[in-house]
Amino acid sequence: MDGRMVGKVALVTGGSGGIGAATAERFASDGAAVAIVDINEAQADSVAAGIAATGGTARAIACDVSDIASAEAAVATCLSAFGRLDVLVCCAGIVRDNLVFRMTDEDWHGVLETHLTGTFAFARAAQRTMTEQRYGKMVFLSSVSALGNRGQTNYSAAKAGLQAMARTLAIELGPFGINVNAVAPGFVETAMTRATAARLGMDFDAFKAQVLEQTPRRILGQPHHIANVIAFLCGDESEYVSGQTIYVAGGPRG
Ligand code: NAP
Repeated sequence: MDGRMVGKVALVTGGSGGIGAATAERFASDGAAVAIVDINEAQADSVAAGIAATGGTARAIACDVSDIASAEAAVATCLSAFGRLDVLVCCAGIVRDNLVFRMTDEDWHGVLETHLTGTFAFARAAQRTMTEQRYGKMVFLSSVSALGNRGQTNYSAAKAGLQAMARTLAIELGPFGINVNAVAPGFVETAMTRATAARLGMDFDAFKAQVLEQTPRRILGQPHHIANVIAFLCGDESEYVSGQTIYVAGGPRG
C-alpha cells in the first residue's frame, strides 16, 4: 500500500467486472476506502472480500446503474458508510451489438441507459457532495468504439456521448475543485471481450491473437493497464488535466 489515497473514498460502478475490479483493487491498495457498485451482487461481495482480505477497506453495493433511483440510493449508501466521496469511476457497461438493420429498440435503450443514463445519474449524485467538499475526481469509461465500430451503433454513440459529458462536466464543475475525464480503452481481456468473440463465432484465443497482431505496441490489454491510467487521473499529479479523453489502446486510435 503506497498511501497516495489514504483518507479518500472512491466509488466504482461495474466494480465487480474486469476493469472496475482492477480499479477498485488499485484504489484500495493505494489506501482508499472503496464502494464496489454492481448489478452482480455476489461478484461485488467477492471483490470486496478480496480487498478486505489484503487489509483494505471495501463495501459492496448492489445497484442497477440504469435506474436513477437505484443510483441515487447507491451514492447515499456510500456516503452513510464512509462519510465522504472523493472519486467516482463509472465502469458499469454492457454490449448489445448488431448491425443497424437488426438492432432492436431494446438493444438501443439498454446500452444508452446503462452507459449514458447510468453515468449521468452517478455524476449528478456525486457532484452534490464533491462541490461541498470543493474536491472530486470523476472518470468515465469511453472506448475506441467512440470513433465508430461496425455493429455498435448503440455502444459507439454512448461512448462518444461520455466523452462529451466529461468535457461538459469539466467546465461546470472545475471551479469547485472537481476534475472530470474519460478513458477510452482499446481491447482489454475481460468477460465483455470474451462475449464479443463468442458473438463473432471466434475462439477467444484466436480472437486475442488477431487483436495482438493489430495492436502497434504488441501488448494484449489487461484491466490493470486501464486501472493505472484511471489512478493517474484520480490523483493530484493530474490536477491540471480535465475534460480530456485518454486513449489507452497500445497505439494512437484517438
Ligand atoms: P465487464 O467485465 O463485463 O464488467 C462490467 C461490469 O458492469 C459487470 O460486472 C456487469 O455486471 C456490470 N454491469 C452491467 N450492467 C450493469 C448495470 N445496469 N448496473 C450495474 N452494473 C452493471 O466489462 P469490462 O470489460 O470490465 O468493461 C468496463 C467498462 O469499460 C465498460 O464501460 C466497457 O464498455 C468499457 N470498455 C471495455 C473494453 C474492453 O475491451 N473490455 C474496451 C473499451 C471500453 P454483469 O457481469 O452481471 O453484466
